[in-house]
Amino acid sequence: MVFAITPSPHASVPVQGGKPFPVRRIYCVGRNYAAHAREMGHDPDREPPFFFMKPADAVTYDGGAIPYPPATNDLHHEIELVVALAKGGADIPEARALDHVFGYTVGLDMTRRDLQAEAKSKGRPWDTGKGFDHSAPIGALHTVADVGHPTDARIHLEVNGEMRQDGNINQMIWNVPETIAYLSGLFHLRPGDLIYTGTPEGVAAVVPGDRLEGAVEGIATLSISYEASS
Ligand code: MN
Repeated sequence: MVFAITPSPHASVPVQGGKPFPVRRIYCVGRNYAAHAREMGHDPDREPPFFFMKPADAVTYDGGAIPYPPATNDLHHEIELVVALAKGGADIPEARALDHVFGYTVGLDMTRRDLQAEAKSKGRPWDTGKGFDHSAPIGALHTVADVGHPTDARIHLEVNGEMRQDGNINQMIWNVPETIAYLSGLFHLRPGDLIYTGTPEGVAAVVPGDRLEGAVEGIATLSISYEASS
């Protein structure tokens, strides 16, 4: 198709041993680990899953130095298991949900915590806190054929070599099939959708020049650094 202007490039994520995965939407689960819900001042036992989105082109691939975002003094890391969908659907039953998965990787739900806190206090949307440019660093995807469907794996993040977050994906309040089933009751999911499944405890701030190295062990790794301030 010929457009009125040159379209921006389609967002994509590398696939280990395969062609790139085209990203349609990025869904994120909030407060999906009890200890993180508590550190943010909430009771994890009383909440159904809730979701927010990042724009597709917020994905930033593993490896390079990325710009430190503007308008924040409190940029937080949240290391998360990421699910990539090969097939879409609405009202997907939990028992069939894993049939829709293309693969898995590890990602960072980077958060301008100061802007998110202001939005929460004023009852405003979270977009400026969560959906900014480069807010979704991500590792290479690994297919289900390669890694299966992980349910018990250590997830961790080091900043400048110091351990900041160290949990296990078996601590998720809503597991992957439950999350897909619930989300598909709210949105018609499509091929190319990514789901960031929430973060364990230990979220904290990063500053320009920091190096972040994360992993879901046995599944994927991620390494980024923030450009030093000039
Ligand atoms: Mn998160």
